[in-house]
Amino acid sequence: MDVNFEGGLVPVITQDADSGEVLMLAYANREAVAATLQTKEAHYFSRSRGALWRKGETSGHRQQVIELRYDCDGDALLYRVRQSGPACHTGAHSCFYRTLSGVPSASLGEVLGLLERVVAERLRELPEGSYVTRLHGQGLGRVAQKVIEEAGESAIAALQEPRKLASEAADLLFHLTILLRERGVALQEVADELHKRHQQRPAH
Ligand SMILES: [Zn+2]
Repeated sequence: MDVNFEGGLVPVITQDADSGEVLMLAYANREAVAATLQTKEAHYFSRSRGALWRKGETSGHRQQVIELRYDCDGDALLYRVRQSGPACHTGAHSCFYRTLSGVPSASLGEVLGLLERVVAERLRELPEGSYVTRLHGQGLGRVAQKVIEEAGESAIAALQEPRKLASEAADLLFHLTILLRERGVALQEVADELHKRHQQRPAH
């Protein structure tokens, strides 16, 4: 392994493998990295306790490691994980939920990931007064019809009122997310499909 454990520890950036969101920063020693590779569950070294630490051993909020990368000069690691529950001990999804400057922004992956989590929760709990609950109650055919309607409105906006296109496209993505969830298809499957095509035809 070309990782430099100078002083015994190396910083680890942990990233949500699906949304790309940065979840936390921690440290690992050789033992933690070996345990992570062996179990496919994120292990770190706790500097405050001076001990090996498996993420979620007390909270239950484990991290399934999809991929482990190291940087160009081998002095930092990247754990790409599927996070169960919040990553942060405060209950936030990511430890980096505060901004020191400017307005908080979110990446495309983060926004779509959050949208999917909210839609899935609504479909599971069907809270009264929720738009998703009402649409779900009207049946799969109605959800499919809404997707067609919003696709049509997006197309019309592109031709006649381009400044409304982003808003219409947002409606389309929202309803498409509901349709996918209704059929148990994760947005990640859609992303995997696009990624596969891009890799097959990089010039496309
Ligand atoms: Zn935290």
